[in-house]
Amino acid sequence: MSDLISISDAIELVLGRVTPLASQRVSLERAAGRFAAEAAVSIVDLPPFAASAMDGFAVRAGETPGTVPIHGRIVTGTPSPTALAEGGAIGISTGGVVPEGADAVVPVELVTEQDGMLIIPNPVVLGDNIRPRGGDLAAGDTIVAPGTRLGAAHVGALAAGGVADLAVGRRPKVCVLVTGSELQAPGTPLGPGQIYDANGFILEAQLAAAGAEVVRLPPVRDDEAATFAAIEQGLNADVLITTGGVSVGVHDLVRSAEAQLGVIEIFWRVAMRPGKPIAFGVRGETLVFGLPGNPVSSLVGFELFVRPALLALQGASEPRPRFLPGVLAAGSKRVAERDSLIRARQVVRDGSVVLEPLSGQDSHMIARAATADALVLVPRGEGLLEAGSAVEYLPLA
Ligand code: AMP
Ligand code: MG
Repeated sequence: MSDLISISDAIELVLGRVTPLASQRVSLERAAGRFAAEAAVSIVDLPPFAASAMDGFAVRAGETPGTVPIHGRIVTGTPSPTALAEGGAIGISTGGVVPEGADAVVPVELVTEQDGMLIIPNPVVLGDNIRPRGGDLAAGDTIVAPGTRLGAAHVGALAAGGVADLAVGRRPKVCVLVTGSELQAPGTPLGPGQIYDANGFILEAQLAAAGAEVVRLPPVRDDEAATFAAIEQGLNADVLITTGGVSVGVHDLVRSAEAQLGVIEIFWRVAMRPGKPIAFGVRGETLVFGLPGNPVSSLVGFELFVRPALLALQGASEPRPRFLPGVLAAGSKRVAERDSLIRARQVVRDGSVVLEPLSGQDSHMIARAATADALVLVPRGEGLLEAGSAVEYLPLA
């Protein structure tokens, strides 16, 4: 019997510890990428008035086909000066206010102007080329529900609805601490036995995309006092993420330092590959993630557990990783008692997403992983998961 918990149990344990952060009002300019904390409603009908969908002439459908007098032109952005109570036509542009009495717009291409008259050769259907007032949304209707991540179209709809500011979830403050005496920053020469820190950079990129405010602590050596001091500082954030030092090596000091600092461990070790030795704990409201040191393990651990936590902190209604259906292109060896997340590339073939596993699946191979755009879930088991098998995958940004 394995003492490892499943990926889905681990995700639920993490989300069970999240209390959404307080909301704050932001102006619409700053709202993209944030999560609506309340329903935002339109203050106007959309469109706010019956508007022309074409450049042409506002007419009365009942007078078509026929020849009618032209009563002038409507300037877009101003109300119509004339009503069409007695019939006739008024020139109008796309977005112009359809005058009182008109019930259709005939496009300019379909008519002829002659001596102040408009010749309309064909019948025009009632309502043609008119965008009815409120046809998109009525005043008071909800534009975005709480928990929605605001994308470009959302902020556009909010702007169209006259919403100048709204409440959104606060961005989580996240402290990143990479551990390991071997780590050097890119830009400095490598000494013997040293490697460049990759995890700090991976995490900063992932955190920015997840809406977090990042505080980076300097890399810490595998030294008990230094590790303790750095973690103590990191615990002031909403979320502390460490990398390295969470397996069972003699230099793996992170969990013991955290325990001394009052972090309650919720789980350690998940039935997954890569990333098995991941740790998660809490101190008060602070969430504490101990990601393994291998860059691909760190990357995968973030996608499965940290990103959902960050989204939930910001009030997301759907924080869980969204796995999609696909087809495995090549056989993949299963791992007994551990679900694998293999790095793959998506190719669309015959209408479905086919996932081509990359060569080089070791957890230190960040350069190989950099060419992947998907993490494919290969469920635990014996033998091979055959080519052509239906699988689930997580797209990578
Ligand atoms: P650890 O989990 O500390 O035992 O580290 C596992 C492996 O990941 C070791 O080969 C480390 O050198 C490597 N590693 C740890 N931290 C980083 C980092 N920040 N960037 C790149 N590799 C790392
Ligand atoms: Mg280490």
